[in-house]
Amino acid sequence: MTKSLSIIVSVYNEQDGLLQFWESISKSLLELKEYRLRLIFVNDGSKDDSSEILKKISNESKNGNILVEVIEFSRNFGHEAAMIAGIDHTDDDILICMDADLQHPPEYIAQMLEQYQKGSEIVLMNRVKRHDKIGFSSFSSKVFYKLINWLSENNFENNASDFFLISQDVANVLKSNYRERNRFLRGFIQVIGFRINTLEFEAPARFAGISNYNFKSLFKLGFTAIFAFSNKPLKISLFCSIAFLLFSFVFIVFTLIVYFFYDTPPSGYTTMVILQALGFTVISFMITILSSYFGRSLFEIRDRPIYIIKNIKK
Ligand code: UDP
Ligand code: MG
Repeated sequence: MTKSLSIIVSVYNEQDGLLQFWESISKSLLELKEYRLRLIFVNDGSKDDSSEILKKISNESKNGNILVEVIEFSRNFGHEAAMIAGIDHTDDDILICMDADLQHPPEYIAQMLEQYQKGSEIVLMNRVKRHDKIGFSSFSSKVFYKLINWLSENNFENNASDFFLISQDVANVLKSNYRERNRFLRGFIQVIGFRINTLEFEAPARFAGISNYNFKSLFKLGFTAIFAFSNKPLKISLFCSIAFLLFSFVFIVFTLIVYFFYDTPPSGYTTMVILQALGFTVISFMITILSSYFGRSLFEIRDRPIYIIKNIKK
């Protein structure tokens, strides 16, 4: 029986590269004759002309063998929300998520499908090289993965990307579970189980436009991932309080001995300043950790939508 394949593409301000992306992906998809093909663009509230260009692509595709659909968000909800909307929208046998800027080369789709045919239910694409970001960025990514692998009980692939294939069964899990606001989608698919396989790819530089992830948003994503997968920071604050308690105990005993057994206690100004500074630092550090968890819990309790769809064009 012919299997159906949905390709989900998140789009945010990609006007300069979209036509090139369409040309490139339709060429790659042309070779996949044994699948029923659907291309789902999720326009994540782009402020440029992406929406018009997507309309053009959708019209152009009318007579072809690829069904093109465009989901328009009411505003920008972020890359992960766009992928989730695409996953929610389709019930095809196979789903592939990828970026619109050609940094996830469509040529790899055939290899991913080969893995699926061999029995993989999840195919993760590991980015072994990235031609646009070097030096500090890859260093910080290494530090991040070291940290998260230490903090959480799971073991994450160091270079996993948002380029992945999932089967319908995996998609069904993501549709009904893992609906958190504080999420790390490429982490979720690594802890969900199922038969998982990894392929490597090299990401070329962006074809056009600029990256939407700056250092600040990557930093935010890093924290989100840590809070989504680990409660260890809470335990660290417990460890800090025990250490501080022991330290205080020794210090109190020492002070009492000086008070009772020596004539003149030392003046103690320096000690007081150091102790207070240390104490307040530890306390505010612990409150920060607590409030980070608390703030994120509030977001989950409010249960606001992950995304809002304005319209869907078929
Ligand atoms: N993207 C999105 N919403 C956003 C930011 C980005 O849908 O708020 C899309 C973007 O159009 C691209 C993909 O997510 O297709 C990855 O974004 P980008 O290329 O900026 O990230 P990078 O490749 O630099 O990590
Ligand atoms: Mg990119």
